Amino acid sequence: MTVDLHDFVATVEDYPEPGVSFRDISPLMGDGVAYKQAVDAIADFAKNLNVDLIAGPESRGFIVGSPLAYAMNIGFVPARKGGKLPREAVSASYTLEYGGVNELEIHKDAIKPGQRVLIVDDLLATGGTINATREIIEKLGGIVAGVAFIIELENLQGREKIMEAGEVPFLALMEY
Ligand code: 5GP
Repeated sequence: MTVDLHDFVATVEDYPEPGVSFRDISPLMGDGVAYKQAVDAIADFAKNLNVDLIAGPESRGFIVGSPLAYAMNIGFVPARKGGKLPREAVSASYTLEYGGVNELEIHKDAIKPGQRVLIVDDLLATGGTINATREIIEKLGGIVAGVAFIIELENLQGREKIMEAGEVPFLALMEY
């Protein structure tokens, strides 16, 4: 059985601030068929990319990346918000879509030079989160094998921002 994943995205108007349409993927995660279909579609995209590791930013990147890593029999690397990791970490900061600055960190020993890493997240907006994750992976000597999202917000041109940092294979299961 195949479902239309759009049916599992709840749009919340004026959240988190007036004028913003927030795309909430909670219904998708809460449905076994839709969740598995989304993860399997990303696994299918990844199968020819020689991926060694999956990386995902806190916290919805964990929800996409962990089952994907399990399905692909490879490891998962969390990019955590600043100050949460217990051991030596490499960080990068970025500007948030709705203002403010955030920091992401990955443990220094989580990625070895030359390892090919697929970055995943629930949603691509301006691309700041993904480019910060990418910056850390590349500082550690990793190679970004591709990027994959459940949703891409097209008008924010995050995809262009990612490609400006270097062309990589790209997948978005839905575009809004
Ligand atoms: P970006 O850094 O690309 O501007 O923002 C993407 C990040 O913000 C993702 O980690 C994503 O989880 C979160 N985000 C921004 N807008 C939305 C939205 O409308 N829906 C969801 N689910 N996440 C969003």
